[in-house]
Amino acid sequence: MWYKDTLVERFLKYTAISSQSNSEEKILPSSSGQMELAEVLKKELEKMNLSDIKLTENAILTARLKGTDTSFPTVGFITHLDTFDGGFSPDVKAQIKKFTGSDILLNEKEKIFLTIEENPEILKYLDEDILVTDGTSVLGADDKAAVAVVMMSLEYLIKEKPEHGDIVVAFVPDEEIGLRGAKALNLDDFKADFAYTLDCCELGEVTCDNINSASCIVNIEGVVAHSMSTKSDRVNPILVAVDLINRIETNDNPKEREAMFNIREFSGGVRNSRIRVAIGSFDKVEFQQQKDLITRHLKDLQDLYPKAKISYEIFDNFLNMKDGIGDKTHSVDLIYACMEKLHITPKTISMRGGTDGSDISNRGIPTPNYFTGAHNFHSNFEFLPISSFIKAFELTIEIIKSANQNINKKD
Ligand SMILES: [Zn+2]
Repeated sequence: MWYKDTLVERFLKYTAISSQSNSEEKILPSSSGQMELAEVLKKELEKMNLSDIKLTENAILTARLKGTDTSFPTVGFITHLDTFDGGFSPDVKAQIKKFTGSDILLNEKEKIFLTIEENPEILKYLDEDILVTDGTSVLGADDKAAVAVVMMSLEYLIKEKPEHGDIVVAFVPDEEIGLRGAKALNLDDFKADFAYTLDCCELGEVTCDNINSASCIVNIEGVVAHSMSTKSDRVNPILVAVDLINRIETNDNPKEREAMFNIREFSGGVRNSRIRVAIGSFDKVEFQQQKDLITRHLKDLQDLYPKAKISYEIFDNFLNMKDGIGDKTHSVDLIYACMEKLHITPKTISMRGGTDGSDISNRGIPTPNYFTGAHNFHSNFEFLPISSFIKAFELTIEIIKSANQNINKKD
């Protein structure tokens, strides 16, 4: 397995480049580290002699590896350059620790441990080497483990020369702050028959179903008057906002595929108030009904408080990849078939979030997701067992090599 060390080396190299995204920033990319990483990758792609290499000013990097066999479909891989902020240090200091059955010391100075009590799933990896953080940042396996797998796969295909079709790759910024890079990706630079993201989680996980997500932002302008005024036209925007909140059935702990409304932001004074509501459902029809319902509440409120100025906007953050994939399930069937070949037990999950594939699937290229092998995404206890990481790489190669096969549809 010559690729084992190289895969880990690549991962350490990419995580050493700080590329946390910044939701406060409106420009794309939202941080300069993402462009820095894109430039490093571009150089590596050039060295490997890929064609159609393009790096845009928005840090969107795309390229193509010519296939050996034109009867194969073109397979795409899209991974993201940014890491999650979450108030953690932007600088990742990844380290390899062997799990010997006791808590793993991440940070001697700050006495931070990855404990078995809080992470019992680590027991599956006894006596294995595990990539961990120094306790102050995320590990950034989300999504640099995927970046490393894709780069390594290109290197492997060039070196080992198995039969394969064209491979197109895209490395995009700012996934963590609303799939901004994927949304800005020009699909003329990513002409794949189907594609994949590797953007979540432990060994075996497959996602081809995610929640539809929208935001509703409401601004309420009240009417201010002195309380001694004889006029009775005061409207308190805080109370109008509270009235709206009371009309919405919020659900802060939704289970599995349950739909939900969440109040994510509320601020106000005597003149103005503002609310941000998150709307989510796995089902397309129900999702539309949720948006209609909130619109009706807002109209009713406007009738009830005619002197208040209520303005709002509702916009989609991402849609369910399942609707985008539709009956073009070859990409999904291929994941399961290749997992079977590699003796990986699949674990299909519905994701209460989005991936770049949610956007790309709904723009016509089926793009399901499979594991990188990491646990605890978006946490300073994120960890990546190297054995799972290698499996993610091996699965990627298997998918590429099997892409032209007719897979019997799974029920
Ligand atoms: Zn991610």
